[in-house]
Amino acid sequence: MSSTPAGEPAPKSSNFLRQIIEQDLAKGTYAARRWAGSPGDAAHHASGPIDPARIRTRFPPEPNGYLHIGHAKSICLNFGLARDYGGVCHLRFDDTNPEKEDVEYVNTIQNSVRWLGFTWNGSSTAEPYQASDYFDFMYRAAEYLIEAGHAYVDEQSADEMRIHRGDFGKPGVDSVYRTRTPAENLKRFREMRDHRHADGAMVLRAKIDMASPNINMRDPAIYRIRRATHHKTGDKWCIYPMYTYAHPIEDALEQITHSLCTLEFEDQRPFYDWLLERLSEGGLLSAPPPRQYEFARLNLTYVVTSKRKLAQLVYDHQVSGWDDPRMPTIVGLRRRGYTAAAIQLFVERIGVSKSDSWIDYSVLEGCLRETLDTSARRAMAVLDPVKLVLSNWDELIGKDKLDDCSAPFHPHQPELGRRSFTMGKEVWIDRSDFEETPSKGFFRLYPGNKVRLKYGHVIECTGCTRDAQGQVTRVHAMLIPNTKSGTPGSDSLKVKGVITWVGVADGLSAEVRLYDRLFLDPQPDAGGKDFIEALNPNSLRVVQAVVEPSLASARADQKFQFERHGYFVADGVDHKAARPVFNLSVGLKDSWAK
Ligand code: ATP
Ligand code: MG
Repeated sequence: MSSTPAGEPAPKSSNFLRQIIEQDLAKGTYAARRWAGSPGDAAHHASGPIDPARIRTRFPPEPNGYLHIGHAKSICLNFGLARDYGGVCHLRFDDTNPEKEDVEYVNTIQNSVRWLGFTWNGSSTAEPYQASDYFDFMYRAAEYLIEAGHAYVDEQSADEMRIHRGDFGKPGVDSVYRTRTPAENLKRFREMRDHRHADGAMVLRAKIDMASPNINMRDPAIYRIRRATHHKTGDKWCIYPMYTYAHPIEDALEQITHSLCTLEFEDQRPFYDWLLERLSEGGLLSAPPPRQYEFARLNLTYVVTSKRKLAQLVYDHQVSGWDDPRMPTIVGLRRRGYTAAAIQLFVERIGVSKSDSWIDYSVLEGCLRETLDTSARRAMAVLDPVKLVLSNWDELIGKDKLDDCSAPFHPHQPELGRRSFTMGKEVWIDRSDFEETPSKGFFRLYPGNKVRLKYGHVIECTGCTRDAQGQVTRVHAMLIPNTKSGTPGSDSLKVKGVITWVGVADGLSAEVRLYDRLFLDPQPDAGGKDFIEALNPNSLRVVQAVVEPSLASARADQKFQFERHGYFVADGVDHKAARPVFNLSVGLKDSWAK
């Protein structure tokens, strides 16, 4: 736990959430709060010491899919605020919905949070919390609400309930079951629990106000009958709490202080507060209760972030899996070459606000470039190789001789040392670096022009050979003597173009996967559009490249800058020393900018 004494300026750029937390710390809103070391009711926490965590936040995923960049915003926000203000952030699986959840997701979610750089629940070895552990308390709280006259069992059909709820301009109508006595309600509720009624036959509802202007306050359902096997509690329960009832209780049992959620939950806040006030005044939950604050969800251009839509891409084989490098999932971003530092920088840079907006995808890419620039080792790679033959090599350097060249691993970090490679009579260059008839502004290889082979010699182009189809098979050039990089007087000959290359003698062949955006439409699923139609048909192009010999030792997940091309990562799944595979993470410049 790091601690930032109250009153000190926030270490990061401020936002409305930081201001709320700083005010609470200054006022001591939660200073008398106790923490018994584990989640629990009022009596449990009363037995514990003053909470050493100055705030508690939580990230509460439903274990029903892979985490995506939108979740990363919520994770960095919740864990980051706890870290910055001497607090603790909880990882809690919101597993109150028995049908949709799976342990596969429980594991990947934990791995993703850890990979983003965070530990939960106060220590690096703590288990995540699980909402299903609170089912007993939720049931007890429901009985309390019934006894206190705050809840009733409603046997109207789902249709009747919907009609009687009213709508925006029309108040609701009280159910005929609303005036039952607490004793009658309790009996019925226990029958619901004891498997005595069919699924959907009745629900438990909070008794608030059927005329409330906020439809969420018109006696919301809090328990339903659902005979479904839960992945944790098995068949113990045939009644399950509704999300709107479960969530505030989960927060309160965990002594959360600041419960952050996305804007669509704003209308739920009055019920959140109502419920926790009732349960605090009944002595079931400790006071002061947690408070909910809403922030704008992340909308990223050229990306869809709904778990359902991402699942569709996977199951329809539009991508190779949840970890396809084009997916906005954490596992996909990671395989694409994103680092936790880049994602944290992105979340910091976009900030938090209370109004929805779209963040341009280039902001995310910019953060990746920025973090990789200082950390990624450099290497040369030729993505579309064609042979360059130096006609005077034998007489100037010697037949079959190779010339040793070297370059720093990083231009600004000489301490990393240098990489070595050789130049010979034949080197690979990129096809696009030669034009027999140069277009306007082209200053690389064309007959009569001189360029430098980076870290090597200056050469002068003399022509090319083509095959029967007109395809260039060889580019010809002559070495200019006394121009080797790093030798005295080598730069007395000024040339405009510098091109990258790889020696034919020591180059390694490698598969390079050139990824681009998955969608062509900046808002692929806005306004109910079919996002499948917006798929970019060229979002993956696989090429056989030649790379410099230093890449023989590349480890899976290691990041590189291929000079002049962009940032690449050795694929975390398919890369092998004997069969190197590199993924394009991001180009050196934004190729989508208008
Ligand atoms: P989806 O809509 O993709 O199914 P979800 O909101 O249902 O996502 P949960 O597992 O319930 O997924 O979400 C866990 C947390 O992540 C919630 O607190 C939710 O508010 C937050 N979250 C989900 N998507 C985003 C987003 N795009 N931007 C910010 N926070 C998000
Ligand atoms: Mg959800």
